[in-house]
Order: sequence, then structure tokens, then C-alpha cells
Amino acid sequence: MNIQFNSLPVIPLRITSKYGPRNIGLKGASTFHRGIDLGRDFSKTETVILAVADGVIANNYWNNTRGWVVIIDHGNFKTLYQHLKKQSLLRKGAKVVDGQIIGLMGASTKTIKGMAMHLHMELIVGSKQINPEPYLRNIIPKEMEVIDLTEKQTRRIVQDEIKRVLEGRGTKVAECFKEAWEKAQVEGCSDGTRPQGYTTRQEVVSMIQRSEK
Ligand SMILES: [Zn+2]
Repeated sequence: MNIQFNSLPVIPLRITSKYGPRNIGLKGASTFHRGIDLGRDFSKTETVILAVADGVIANNYWNNTRGWVVIIDHGNFKTLYQHLKKQSLLRKGAKVVDGQIIGLMGASTKTIKGMAMHLHMELIVGSKQINPEPYLRNIIPKEMEVIDLTEKQTRRIVQDEIKRVLEGRGTKVAECFKEAWEKAQVEGCSDGTRPQGYTTRQEVVSMIQRSEK
């Protein structure tokens, strides 16, 4: 199969959820992950999403689960980018080159509760989604890649997510929620299984979901 990426979709590349079977404890999220999730660039307020190869915009639409979506047709394969912050300015039929900005990373979805900001990306060959990770690895030096989150990054995500939830409900905060907040302030990693280690975005989001109940 002749699949070649020439740009990373997000720089730096930080894979927060891999392709394959999974259970992230979020209602509405898939149990077989047909793509990979990439985290945001913590050094910037917005994270841009880039076309991985030359192509034509095949679709640009809203879906209640996927949020804002862009699909690029590269000829013998397609790439899909979802949960964009807002609708891409590139409309169906527009030509794109590798490395071109196609939108901003967001958390758009209507059905997945408690989802954190990330890019869900799929590689589609024919009508099947295959794992895009090997094609991303083809074009990055190993040292550029960050798989999981550092404790500092985790702390920031937890704080952002809790703030977002609090702003969303406005009023009462459950005791367990306060505990999670305090723990997050001190430890960053509130998952509990690896107190001094790294944690993933999914673990953070699951933890926040639990603390909301
Ligand atoms: Zn995903």
C-alpha cells in the first residue's frame, strides 16, 4: 500500500490514545478506537491541525459525536480529523498541501460527556480505518515524540477540566470533587495507580468523571 505522510497533523506529536480496543470509561466514547488521539501543544493557546499530505477536502461537516470534522482525500487514502474547535474554513473541493493548516484543535462533540480537547485522527483506506501510527512514526525522529503526559501537563489538564466543569454547572461542588481538586493541585496524577508516574488524558478525564458523580 502506497501511503506516505509528509507532515505531522499536530506538532509536537503526543499520542494520548492509540488505535485498537480500549475502555476509557466515558459514555459515548468508542470501545474500539478506529483512530488515534493527539494532545494539544501546551506551549500555545491554540493548537493548529495540519494536513498530513497533499489532497483535496472531501468533506467538512458537523456530526453530534465527532463534532466538527474535516476529511482529506489524498488519492489512494483519506485522513479524517475530528473534534475541531470550529468549522474549518476550507470547504469541500479545496486543494490542500502537506503541512497546511486545516483548522484548530478543539473539543467539539454533543454526545461524549467530559471529553477533553484533542485531535482524533483516522486513516481510511477504501472504507476501512487502519492504524495511522506507523505512518506518523515514519516521518518523525524518535526523540520528538512524547507518548504520555508529564505530571505538570496533567496538573494543568486537571485544573482546566475541573474549571470547565465548574463553570458549566455554576453552583454546587460535591465533596469528592473538592477532594479531587485538592489532590490534583498537590499530585497532578489523581488516577492513583501510578502516583509518581505519567498519566494519560483518558485517565485524567475518567478521574474527573468519577469525581463528578
Ligand atoms: Zn479518538
